[in-house]
Amino acid sequence: MAFELPRLNYALDALEPVIDRRTMEFHYGKHHQVYVNKLNELIKGSPFVNSSLEEIIKEAEGGIYNNGAQVWNHTFYFQSFKPKGGGKPEGELASVINNTFKSFDKFKEQFSNAAITLFGSGWTWLVKNDSGDLQILQESNAGNPLRNGLIPILTCDVWEHAYYLNYQNRRPDYVKSFWDILDWETISRRY
Ligand code: MN
Repeated sequence: MAFELPRLNYALDALEPVIDRRTMEFHYGKHHQVYVNKLNELIKGSPFVNSSLEEIIKEAEGGIYNNGAQVWNHTFYFQSFKPKGGGKPEGELASVINNTFKSFDKFKEQFSNAAITLFGSGWTWLVKNDSGDLQILQESNAGNPLRNGLIPILTCDVWEHAYYLNYQNRRPDYVKSFWDILDWETISRRY
């Protein structure tokens, strides 16, 4: 079973000025696509040829894990956005964020700091555990929390390819703008 690049439900320039068209053309059109292609090559003749992405993330090692997790991570990241997004979480997620971090603004500050201070390439995550508790995690490279039995709620890609064309080395500016395109209706349903 070959994996495919998932379609976006917004245009490549719809997230401007936060994420510009050129960044989308490279990040979605090339990086994400190459992870899909590479994964399809690597699983041929391997024990993972008929596995789901989630099974690959939980069980694979090396290149199959790295490319499989990057496919999942990017799909999840791009599905967290909408044009003119922003605002705040809804429903149960809103109250658990308030209980855990004191307020949405404090959560935003902690998550942003985790994204800004993550050394090198990786992903910042908001996850929940089996008891519904929330936690902010920094994962290097392709790191995906499903591998540790945690449920991803939100992620920020801090690989340089996510922001370098538009923000160059200014990762804090990218992280600050990231909040303006979040689709909290979709993200809140993940809790
Ligand atoms: Mn990326």
